[in-house]
Amino acid sequence: MKLFTVGPVMMYPETMNIAGKQLPYFRTEEFSRIVLTIEQKIKEVVNAKTDSKVALLTASGTGAMESVIMNSFDETDRLLIINGGSFGNRFCELAQIHHIPYDAIDIPFGEELTEEKLFAIDGSQYTAFVVNHHETSTGQLYDIKMIQRYCQKYQLFLIVDAISSFLADSISMDEDGISCLILSSQKALALNPGLSIVVVNSLFYERKIKNRPPKGMYLDLNLHFKNMERGQTPNTPAVGVILELADRLEKLDYQKEMEEIKKRANYFRERASKLEVILPNYPLSNALTPIILPKQNATAIFEILKRQGLMVTPSGGDLKDKVLRIGHLGNLTLQDYDQLLMALEKIMKKENPRA
Ligand SMILES: *Cc1c(COP(=O)(O)O)cnc(C)c1O
Repeated sequence: MKLFTVGPVMMYPETMNIAGKQLPYFRTEEFSRIVLTIEQKIKEVVNAKTDSKVALLTASGTGAMESVIMNSFDETDRLLIINGGSFGNRFCELAQIHHIPYDAIDIPFGEELTEEKLFAIDGSQYTAFVVNHHETSTGQLYDIKMIQRYCQKYQLFLIVDAISSFLADSISMDEDGISCLILSSQKALALNPGLSIVVVNSLFYERKIKNRPPKGMYLDLNLHFKNMERGQTPNTPAVGVILELADRLEKLDYQKEMEEIKKRANYFRERASKLEVILPNYPLSNALTPIILPKQNATAIFEILKRQGLMVTPSGGDLKDKVLRIGHLGNLTLQDYDQLLMALEKIMKKENPRA
């Protein structure tokens, strides 16, 4: 099975090699050194200041999103959340669950978060801006520089879920004015699921996290930051995924990786435009290409491709029968896209007798 999904994605042989080995015990100096190296490398790749804090959570990306919302805000805050699909909506739900006041900027499918739309909103009542850099459910990539200007104008902390954009689209904590960045293991890092990463700058940590009494135990960021000082986690972590991450970061060439993902995205998009599909008009992440099928049923095509060993990403909700999402992350080659495109072309001819 070849995965054109966004997570889990096709893994690299080096990662699978590590995943197949006996795990070590983790309360040791050796393991602490590995974790501290990861901490330092993560700061480098996201361009965080050296006094930033890093937490490695044994949780999927949603766990990291929840940990940030619950450990950083309370009833006295007010969040401005971009809700452009299911991941934006998840932040709204988290704010509700944790009784944090918020307003959402709703971006219906097909619409773009423009400068006009954003700056029409008076931001003076908010404490933080919360956004999924790439809204994976629609493929829209939000303009982080534009969001940075908005946050500067109103002095807002900027919380960015870069889970599906990291390594696909450029992001820099320091240059983009990001207070808190969220990553996860199973997307472009192409590791096993189960590990997510929270990076916060020192200002955000001091003002919003440090002196807050814990609201829970497992996702308590202060507990994680405290343990990280000695390269440890409060509880048994996903030891195997941490070892995979250490290896991946050691070998990672950030610029080269981004170029390769972009090359695959462009290659696919150029050729897909010759099929009877429509690509959205809004800016797209390099991680993913949504294809809108004007005539065929997306669910039916998904099933046929799956039977041929080609796993694309289906859509949810209203988009289920209209939109397929083709991922560009992980261990994929241009030849893999040739194979997918050929299969797609064949199916579309057959499924559409008029063609
Ligand atoms: C994948 C993803 C997540 C995390 O989803 P989990 O299933 O909890 O790992 C969060 N945000 C975005 C934008 C994602 O693409």
